[in-house]
Amino acid sequence: MQMHRTSVTDHVDLEGFMEGVARRNPGQSEFIQAVREVAEDIFDFIEDKVEYHEAQILRRIAEPDRVVSFRVCWEDDNGSIRVNRGYRVQNNNAIGPYKGGIRFHPSVNESILKFLAFEQTFKNALTGLPMGGGKGGANFNPKGKSVNEIMRFCQSFMTELYRHIGANVDVPAGDIGVGAREIGFMFGQYKRITNAWEGVLTGKGLEYGGSLIRPEATGYGAVYFLENMVKTRGRDLAGVTAVISGSGNVATHAAEKITQLGGKVVTLSDSEGFIHDPDGIGLEKIQWVKDHKTHRRGRISQYAEEFKGATFHGDRARPWAVPCDVAMPCATQNELNGEDARTLVKNGCFAVSEGANMPTDLEGVHVFKDAQLLYAPGKASNAGGVAVSGLEMSQNSERRSWKESELQQLLRDIMDGIHDRCLEYGRKSDDYVDYVKGANIAGFKKVADAMLAFGVV
Ligand code: NDP
Repeated sequence: MQMHRTSVTDHVDLEGFMEGVARRNPGQSEFIQAVREVAEDIFDFIEDKVEYHEAQILRRIAEPDRVVSFRVCWEDDNGSIRVNRGYRVQNNNAIGPYKGGIRFHPSVNESILKFLAFEQTFKNALTGLPMGGGKGGANFNPKGKSVNEIMRFCQSFMTELYRHIGANVDVPAGDIGVGAREIGFMFGQYKRITNAWEGVLTGKGLEYGGSLIRPEATGYGAVYFLENMVKTRGRDLAGVTAVISGSGNVATHAAEKITQLGGKVVTLSDSEGFIHDPDGIGLEKIQWVKDHKTHRRGRISQYAEEFKGATFHGDRARPWAVPCDVAMPCATQNELNGEDARTLVKNGCFAVSEGANMPTDLEGVHVFKDAQLLYAPGKASNAGGVAVSGLEMSQNSERRSWKESELQQLLRDIMDGIHDRCLEYGRKSDDYVDYVKGANIAGFKKVADAMLAFGVV
């Protein structure tokens, strides 16, 4: 069939394309930043590939399939009615059901969720599993809320969200502010409304369809990716000093794995500041952080009161000026800027593996690439979490649970596979591996080729 085709990317350069993205998404700086980061690499890759131009694939991927926004009403413990805004962004389901986490944080807005859903599309493609990209959340602040308030919020959120999701449609998971407890509240409400038990959420408790190693998977996977990168320079993680930001699920499991592999982690942080422990945050201390910070929602500053020799640096300070060999930003987006990147390079840091999504801003990314650092973007290095979520979906469909050893091996294999795909598309003529480019092109190609097969839809 001969289709009438016009081309945008035939006639515009990167800047022209980005102007269009900015015009169509006014004020959505995070989304525009994420699209630019991908477009910078894809424009080169598709230059001589007429089929992608003709089908306007890049323009189509940068337009979410749909954005659902809804009111979430709930009653607090004082009997007052509270109103928040909930969202689900379904970016692309070319290679599988939409898949991506739910974030509860006061900063949540449409731009942040669109950037996360866009990134998720490439990340999920990189895992090799059949999952499309989505993301959701609400501008709800779980801090200081009672368990009953959180339950009522989750139930109200799901009372609308259930219409838009399903085991073969869209399968949300956790993210910032959403852990196993919140997933449990939401899953219970979905089941109650639909009268169906199906694998519609991942990150569930082990008693009701959850997968072993899901909590560990993102942090562990990001360290496996780091290990693969440093191996390309003939090194390993034994004896390295690591600086990590965040103190939630991803950060604590990254710290645990680095320590198990013989490295020394010297910092963790939260939104108030960071702690520096020159003696190293060993396994027992990490367990203390999990108990006090992650699970009981304490503050990281309490660490410095508990452990001698550690210091707390407040005023929202970030840990990037602490000298290190490797760094892992594991808190949130745009937490590491160009100046931070230059400081890391100056202090001798040689590898950065992102646990968080887009923690390094565009200037920082360019600093790392120019210095030829081993630098892994989150869409490659933090894909272990969604990969194990994909395995949770398979287990739910099969109605069985796989053993921990099987899952550990699969996680390793998937992270190795992502690393290989980055090498395939990211190796430059001087042998430097541009992992950002490798991840962008490998992820894009898989989704784009599926979209080509569908024609214009
Ligand atoms: P958690 O809620 O468990 O922890 C988040 C951590 O980041 C907390 O220490 C939090 O501090 C800190 N943080 C949050 N917002 C800010 C901010 N604006 N400035 C400074 N610190 C902040 O979340 P996760 O560990 O699950 O997620 C961390 C990152 O990893 C996110 O970017 C997420 O999208 C990404 N990710 C998570 C996956 C997962 O499996 N959980 C999978 C892939 C990516 P505080 O307590 O003060 O808010």
